[in-house]
Amino acid sequence: MAIDLINPYDVAVAQFDEAADRLGLSQAMRAILRKPKRELTVNFPVRMDNGDVEMFTGYRVQHNINRGPAKGGIRFSPEVSLDEVRALAMWMTWKCAVVGIPFGGAKGGVICDPRKMSPGELERLTRRYATEISILIGPDSDIPAPDMNTNPQIMAWIMDTYSMHQGYSVPAVITGKPIGIGGSEGRMEATARGVMVVTREALLDKNMNPEECSVVIQGFGNVGSITARLLHDELGCTIVGLSDITGGVYNPRGIDVHRALRYSKEHGSLQGLPDTEPVSNAELLELPCDVLIPAALENQLTGQNAARVKTRLVIEAANGPTDPAADRILNDAGITVVPDILANAGGVTVSYFEWVQDLQRFFWAENEINDRLETIMKRSYRAVAHKAAEQEVNLRMGAYLLAVARVAEATELRGVYP
Ligand code: NAD
Repeated sequence: MAIDLINPYDVAVAQFDEAADRLGLSQAMRAILRKPKRELTVNFPVRMDNGDVEMFTGYRVQHNINRGPAKGGIRFSPEVSLDEVRALAMWMTWKCAVVGIPFGGAKGGVICDPRKMSPGELERLTRRYATEISILIGPDSDIPAPDMNTNPQIMAWIMDTYSMHQGYSVPAVITGKPIGIGGSEGRMEATARGVMVVTREALLDKNMNPEECSVVIQGFGNVGSITARLLHDELGCTIVGLSDITGGVYNPRGIDVHRALRYSKEHGSLQGLPDTEPVSNAELLELPCDVLIPAALENQLTGQNAARVKTRLVIEAANGPTDPAADRILNDAGITVVPDILANAGGVTVSYFEWVQDLQRFFWAENEINDRLETIMKRSYRAVAHKAAEQEVNLRMGAYLLAVARVAEATELRGVYP
């Protein structure tokens, strides 16, 4: 089958089809799970600072809700498209199933460039988008969270907008909120902490000592920057390459991660970080290292560059960073890939803890959250590694086999309505 490799939805469906073949799913089950359940497109006006009114387009897609309410982040980016949101929603369904938390998959996005918008414009866009998708979201139906270019402040505006419409506070409508309005301890670093746990487990399986490992990370936002800090501080890895949207920095002897964090905050990017040499984002992915962690966006490792990747382990902190052609090349080269639906599931796991805490109005301590996260991530990694070994497939297919079987079981048990 010829597929358009840069369309993430085609990639997501191709991955699902392979798992469905191996599981021997019926044609009916396949047809149900291949399609998103609901897709909402909203076109809405926002008043800009200069008085003009601009139209924006946003989406909210729910892929499957048979295992629980829909859950998934909201992305603000010029590259957002309906197919990207569909793919991300489908991956959320599998991700929640891999780590065994009772949510279905969803995703949202608005086509916009937040870097070119003032805080006031961003707030008005966020509140209007929240209002437009309020026919879908709710604490029992669909619970958004942060994703690329959205943050705790934006979650706070969405929580407030939804609450204004209800007439009372509804903290459980969204996760990734600031602590002061019902956010959870540990949520900011949860995705990266999960990435750290699976990295440690995967290194163990490859008999590699983290303290002797060099690491390259693409993306220096919430996930990439905290992953760099945790891998350096808690596992003792040497971080040799980092990047953001403006390009990368490299030092084969190791980058001072805390300095990089301060520098990026002060200068708005990593460019010019002392004691490093500049590299392009394309070059960064081909630097020699023991662990490569894409933590930015989709389709970074492709049929074009995968053969030049010089690493032993790829940890997919971003969603969909490896296309199927690259997957085959890396697999044939003996490079282990820990797939996104497992590697970055720490975020949705602590989002689940945040939702439970909000519903119960009872909050847990940070060490309790980190301990529970560690247990879930380690158990999920082990289950995926076991499934992969048993079925003689790679970790991605191991994760898909577990996840798709769980969602198919829930769908079968509930039956076809009416
Ligand atoms: P973010 O907006 O905080 O950071 C994104 C980073 O990627 C920034 O440093 C940005 O400069 C960089 N970037 C953007 N375009 C790039 C490009 N073309 N080349 C190199 N770098 C580029 O976003 P985030 O929340 O850290 O999300 C990163 C990835 O992790 C996304 O794929 C997201 O879906 C995934 N993810 C995030 C979470 C979460 O909890 N935030 C959870 C699971 C998965």
